[in-house]
Amino acid sequence: MVKICCIGAGYVGGPTMAVIALKCPSIEVIVVDISAARIAAWNSDQLPIYEPGLDEVVKQCRGKNLFFSTDVDKYIREADIIFVSVNTPTKTRGLGAGKAADLTYWESAARMIADVSQSDKIVVEKSTVPVKTAEAIEKILTHNSKGINYQILSNPEFLAEGTAIKDLFNPDRVLIGGRETPEGQKAIQALKNVYANWVPEERIITTNLWSAELSKLAANAFLAQRISSVNAISALCEATGANVAEVAYSVGKDSRIGPKFLNASVGFGGSCFQKDILNLVYICDCNGLPEAANYWKQVIKINDYQKSRFVNRVVACMFNTVSGKKIAILGFAFKKDTGDTRETPAIDVCKGLLGDKAKISIYDPQVTEDQIQRDLAMNKFDWDHPIHLQPMSPTAVKEVTVTWDAYEATKGAHGVCILTEWDEFKTLDYAKIYANMKKPAFIFDGRNVVDPEKLRQIGFIVYSIGKPLDP
Ligand code: NAD
Repeated sequence: MVKICCIGAGYVGGPTMAVIALKCPSIEVIVVDISAARIAAWNSDQLPIYEPGLDEVVKQCRGKNLFFSTDVDKYIREADIIFVSVNTPTKTRGLGAGKAADLTYWESAARMIADVSQSDKIVVEKSTVPVKTAEAIEKILTHNSKGINYQILSNPEFLAEGTAIKDLFNPDRVLIGGRETPEGQKAIQALKNVYANWVPEERIITTNLWSAELSKLAANAFLAQRISSVNAISALCEATGANVAEVAYSVGKDSRIGPKFLNASVGFGGSCFQKDILNLVYICDCNGLPEAANYWKQVIKINDYQKSRFVNRVVACMFNTVSGKKIAILGFAFKKDTGDTRETPAIDVCKGLLGDKAKISIYDPQVTEDQIQRDLAMNKFDWDHPIHLQPMSPTAVKEVTVTWDAYEATKGAHGVCILTEWDEFKTLDYAKIYANMKKPAFIFDGRNVVDPEKLRQIGFIVYSIGKPLDP
């Protein structure tokens, strides 16, 4: 029986391994993590992450061929294939601070593998890493090899949070990069055999290691660039009376462009897009390619611009001040169908409004009060000026309340900002919300989830990203 161990039981490690276990009943899959709390949650009825369909998959195989454990050494030692799916955040200090990936967790995982292994291993990069990381890992492993043969593969993960299970069941492609040596090709084939249990062969792409590593960074950069492109157009729409929904629809009808990922919004978030572009920028700089670096930097600059444009619009519409006014925030997660708030635009929007002394009341169906307070209290890292900005003052944090109901959040509010495209926000009783708000009542739709005309008929003053303003 093939044994797989995955180091890192996070948003990627947990769901990917659960699906491998489900699709490959003859493989034993053990997910290990240094966080005892996370592992305990994976072994309970309250999984540590919210992801549609995940509960069912875990329930079907946990205890059969899927296990979660903190005994990292034991399961590394027993595994034939080791996936490494640890976090690779942006470095916050030292060389490359604010841009380069922090590979501390990766290096420590590699050293753990080197320390405890007693037989040959295939080590699979599941985390998103800079190009040439496999070379570094190979050095750590081979210099400590004790005669053990290690084959390093790059198998980046393309799932999107919120649709992770769907994406894993039916991936657009599975990418496997490896060495061109006979041993490297044998390792590629071993991993292909795992995916071949449910992924059609033509969707399994094999490349050299560096192409696979770079493809993941490039894919995220392209996706984020599309969002920044449509967001840049949304600013122009507002200035000219064009409607970004109509423009995006017309542009997306061109089969060379396509309709996906063309929704204007308050900006992209999540743990990956910004981090991976920063990483790409850093790699371009390190390779003496400043113009290429500047090109990708612009994607993040437009994203920051969109968030501050949104805050400025809110303040300008509300007679140039939100001081002392209650503003309801509907949605805090970085997108719908996830409880993940990493890099969510809601953090910057809330901080911007709090900076103008607004009182904030937040509702999100999947995000807890603790998580919101922690996010808002955290320092923001400014990548152009790599110093920590001041954390929010304790007084500002007191101006934030978190509710478990959209109606409660909006009661007595002067304005409502919709920051996540949760389906339930489409069907709220906006007439009831209007009745309980201060007048004039404003809605700022950062995701274009509600019909501005219907809201205007109720009496709201409406700002929807990229759409014509109130007459
Ligand atoms: P995460 O922070 O949710 O999970 C990482 C886990 O690794 C944590 O639970 C941590 O405790 C554990 N860990 C760290 N060092 C360890 C060690 N030495 N031994 C055992 N466990 C250790 O991160 P994530 O969102 O799952 O992302 C993991 C990687 O996948 C990142 O490189 C990310 O860029 C990439 N990725 C993420 C997504 C996504 O949507 N979140 C999608 C594709 C790729």
